[in-house]
Amino acid sequence: MNEKVRCLIIGSGPAGYTAAIYASRANLSPVLYEGMQPGGQLTTTTEVENFPGYPSGTTGTELMEDLKKQAERFGADIRFGMATATDLSAAPYKVTIDGEKIIEAETIIISTGATAQYLGLPDEQKYAGSGVSACATCDGFFYRKMTVAVVGGGDTACEEAIYLSGLANKVYLIVRKPFLRASKIMQDRVFKNPKIEILFEHETLGLTGEGVVQGADLVRRRGQADEEKVHIDIDGFFLAIGHKPNSDIFKPWIETDAVGYIKTIEGSPRTNVPGVFASGDVSDPHYRQAITAAGTGCQAAIEAERYLSERGL
Ligand code: NDP
Repeated sequence: MNEKVRCLIIGSGPAGYTAAIYASRANLSPVLYEGMQPGGQLTTTTEVENFPGYPSGTTGTELMEDLKKQAERFGADIRFGMATATDLSAAPYKVTIDGEKIIEAETIIISTGATAQYLGLPDEQKYAGSGVSACATCDGFFYRKMTVAVVGGGDTACEEAIYLSGLANKVYLIVRKPFLRASKIMQDRVFKNPKIEILFEHETLGLTGEGVVQGADLVRRRGQADEEKVHIDIDGFFLAIGHKPNSDIFKPWIETDAVGYIKTIEGSPRTNVPGVFASGDVSDPHYRQAITAAGTGCQAAIEAERYLSERGL
């Protein structure tokens, strides 16, 4: 028999755990499935200096453990498992977990976050786990005293380059434009770091190496009169070029934008399906911060509580 719940939360980043705190304190007996990466993207970051309440900063992992403990303190049922399919045609909505178990939920809070993007080069697959990574915090340790490259010009790329500079001897930052998109403070830190060399207007053509990454073939000013092929010797190749929202299993029912971000009714976490709410990075192409994700997780839980009480559920 299917398990019935009043409030199902899918995802365990700041949005999901905050929704779980609010939903459990409102007696909704929420069940939360953590997904593939318990704790979400923040567990792959280093210092978190901008989450209010931590005057000396904290780590992503500690922050997520704190949020999880806080949710469990009020009775949230937090489980391992991944939502693999949905049927949102009529309430109660059906969500399949790990391809097997079906949960029937009166309300759903989607907090599935976003996943790192790759360039789409065949070499990224070829060298997966052998020099290619999308998480400096997870894999940087393997490149102590070596040379690595980070692709991207946003805050993530700068953060990863700075983190890697604490381990590696040299870090190339491969940026396709003639400028960085990152915030001023991150740009300043990168410019001042003697271990980081920025390769502006460079794109990656492929990776080289016997079994493991040993180099990258780049092109400078592609398509211009002075286009130039460049080769760099590297041991690690880190992607930091943005993220894809994890909304695929909801797409038959839930409206998304062209990229896949779930569309919500402006100023609220409500989706086009009544009783189904979206919070955090899966519905936020603009801010993508832990604190904004937590804020929308709170909103989603409050909306779920109102939805249930209005219907006497
Ligand atoms: P962004 O979308 O901000 O930046 C992506 C970067 O990758 C851009 O420089 C982009 O280049 C480049 N890029 C995208 N596709 C390609 C490609 N195919 N080839 C080469 N380069 C490519 O993503 P981030 O992950 O950096 O940041 C996401 C959000 O999270 C931002 O709002 C950011 O401010 C925030 N953030 C905040 C942090 C903090 O406050 N501590 C830390 C990390 C992120 P181009 O500029 O040419 O488009």
